[in-house]
Amino acid sequence: MLILNELAGSGRIHGDVRLLQSESFRPALRPLSSVTQLGKLNQAYLASTNARTHSATASNHLRSRMATTEKVQQPKWQVPVPVEAEPTLKVWNSLTRTKNDFIPMHGRRVDWYNCGPTVYDSAHMGHARNYLTQDMIRRILRDYFGYDVNFVMNVTDIEDKIIIRAREQHLLAAYRESHPELSEALKNDTKQAWDAYFQSKLLKCLAEADKPKEGEDLITAFQRLLKRDAEDEVWRKEARSKEEKFGLVLGSLQSALAGLSQTNDATTLIDSAKDILSWWLDKKEGHTVTDPAIFRALAAYWENSFFSDMQKLRVLPPDTITRVSEYVPEIVTFVEQIISNGFAYEENGNVWFDVGAFEGAKAKKAKGKGKEGEADDGEWEHVYAKLQPWSKGNRELLEDGEGSLTTAQGKRSSSDFALWKSGKPGEPTWPSPWGPGRPGWHIECSVMASEILGQQMDIHSGGVDLMFPHHDNEIAQSEAYHDCRQWVNYFLHTGHLHIQGLKMSKSLKNFITVEQALETYSPRQLRLAFMNQLWSNKMDLTDGVRAGVENIEETLNNFFRNVKAKISDFESRNAPSDGLHYYDQPEKQLISDLQKAQAAFRAALCDSFNTPESLDVLLTLVSQTNVYLQARPRPQNVSALRTTAEWITRMLRMFGLGEGQAVLKEGAIGWGEASTAEDSGVDREAVLMPYLRALSSFRDEVRKLALKGANSREILELCDRLRDNELVDLGVALDDQEDGNALVKLAPAEELRRARDEKKAAAEAKIARKAAAAKEAEAKRLAKLEKGKVDPALMFKPPHVEDNLYSEWDEEGIPTKDAQGVEISKAKGKKMKKDRDIQAKLHQEWLNEVNKNGASV
Ligand SMILES: [Zn+2]
Repeated sequence: MLILNELAGSGRIHGDVRLLQSESFRPALRPLSSVTQLGKLNQAYLASTNARTHSATASNHLRSRMATTEKVQQPKWQVPVPVEAEPTLKVWNSLTRTKNDFIPMHGRRVDWYNCGPTVYDSAHMGHARNYLTQDMIRRILRDYFGYDVNFVMNVTDIEDKIIIRAREQHLLAAYRESHPELSEALKNDTKQAWDAYFQSKLLKCLAEADKPKEGEDLITAFQRLLKRDAEDEVWRKEARSKEEKFGLVLGSLQSALAGLSQTNDATTLIDSAKDILSWWLDKKEGHTVTDPAIFRALAAYWENSFFSDMQKLRVLPPDTITRVSEYVPEIVTFVEQIISNGFAYEENGNVWFDVGAFEGAKAKKAKGKGKEGEADDGEWEHVYAKLQPWSKGNRELLEDGEGSLTTAQGKRSSSDFALWKSGKPGEPTWPSPWGPGRPGWHIECSVMASEILGQQMDIHSGGVDLMFPHHDNEIAQSEAYHDCRQWVNYFLHTGHLHIQGLKMSKSLKNFITVEQALETYSPRQLRLAFMNQLWSNKMDLTDGVRAGVENIEETLNNFFRNVKAKISDFESRNAPSDGLHYYDQPEKQLISDLQKAQAAFRAALCDSFNTPESLDVLLTLVSQTNVYLQARPRPQNVSALRTTAEWITRMLRMFGLGEGQAVLKEGAIGWGEASTAEDSGVDREAVLMPYLRALSSFRDEVRKLALKGANSREILELCDRLRDNELVDLGVALDDQEDGNALVKLAPAEELRRARDEKKAAAEAKIARKAAAAKEAEAKRLAKLEKGKVDPALMFKPPHVEDNLYSEWDEEGIPTKDAQGVEISKAKGKKMKKDRDIQAKLHQEWLNEVNKNGASV
């Protein structure tokens, strides 16, 4: 008893059932059945013991018990020993070309910068692979491993390609407006542009033997090349392998020539010659384009288009978006610091990064602890091209990184690269200490990443084609600015995408925009296709990939439909427990399969986000669950099935494969369906299932009745039950019509139930009233019959009249004299005669009833 008391004193009793079941208290508990009762008893008990606690005896008892409690100790707790060790996350790191343990700098926080798009055209499948793959890794880190990911992405809205595209579009639109008619001037311009384009773009792609012969007209030479291109397969392939754009250049010239040979209108000619005309106009007049709004409008348009495509691909928006145009002052300050650190120089308004000065330069300041536990005592040197040291000095890659509008003027070494480009006419510019100009390409990422994430980050990512020079230059700039040893800890590069075995290119006609791809693939199919490859590997999007993805999708769709039907069937049976648990060998096996899958899934994702392997794990578990369902076609216990299907659901959704509204529901099973225009995001299953269940069980009952040869009354009763019960509960009213076709109405179920119950009550009341009336009529009838029981001949004789009332009667039994022998008056005799006749009639009725029913009346 005192145990409770002590605990009450220390405020630890909360009506705890377990406490009350301690040995000393148990007898008193025996008759109690509910927790509420226990609670009441507990309070009563506390009141009584609290009162007693104040007595000296109780206090002594308490003290001695407390002393005992101090001595009694819990047994020693064993530190658990893991049976299986948890795998650690390793990430394929371009900085080491191995898988490194993933160690974020700030606990669970992951700072991540991703190189975003240069916005001047539609997003294509290369973009899709890159951003979708990074989205998947981001979701795995965030939603599976539970990191707080801070994902920053830039948008390059100042760049040579954007400038050229904006100028060309602007100039061509103005030219179109000023040339509404198919004039000689228009034709001459086109021919001139054609010649210039041929000389500038095609000639350099041709071998000596293929160039125009002495005195040969350019058009004749072009026709000769076209013929060869069509007939000579080897020549065709070689020309394209030497110059990637060969096919495009040929196509542009051919289209313009076709435009020139038609005589319809100006629009047709300008459309067919738009490539060469816009190029020619830009060469001639590009420098006159000065309005900054022209460049901004093009970038803004394609940025919107990019994010709209990403949304369609279910790519999560970045946590922070940085646009170069919004960070120019920060870029200027950053470049100034690099110059003052001695790693860049200015020449004629251009600022170049000094690779020679940077490489091997000693650290300027000591920074405490360095990487991998070694002391960062400042005894280290800067290194250039950490990602791809073998590409150092690769002129072609370096030039490509500089942009087509940039000249190497004033550059001291061919490996130096632009941090700031002096402004030329026809380019947008910003003020700087070196005169008006614009940032180089690589510097933007260094500055914006440093602005948002500070001087070091956990992850930097981008497409593999950005590795050199872009990412190596980013690293050099940032380490030069921060004077730090390792700006990025993990560099993730997503692999290339090929289409049907070939590098995607506009000239190969296998260039697919995201929008075009979404006509063939659903967003989920694309994600599955990318997921089924290692993110860092080259991927070939072939018809085989597509077929494989469709297969996976169908397997999972069938699985979810099947599981949901089984669970829904189980729930609709709503059977009370029959005292058996039904958690037998098949259920145990399924849960064991699930646990093995969960471990294998984690191991796969820890292995540098091995998504193809993790997908395999899920599909294997699907097969195992299907085996379970074969053993248990109608499970009596769906908990193992539900747990397994819910986990598969959660993992698929974690990858971003969930679609539609259904996936938002907690504990939902299935990866949902993409909403179409018709259902506009409605969860079809949740809406339809109750109605379908009513329909299906009605059908079951009709079939049972039909099979046993039931009569029409039974079928009609079933129909009424559907109308009055199931449909009413679903809020559906069926109003029967004279023509036999019911009107269907939707109304709140509560209202329908009330109406139904009122109708039923009214009908019952009517029946009751009728019954009461009938009963009353019957009573009257019986009373009347009862009256007729007396023979009319005896009605004026005792015992039907008082004794000694009459002394003589006639032959019909009517009194003639009273008791004193005085004659009955004539009038009275007449009245009695009349009464007798009435009784004679009643008596006859009674006799009839007796004859009909025997002697019972
Ligand atoms: Zn970048």
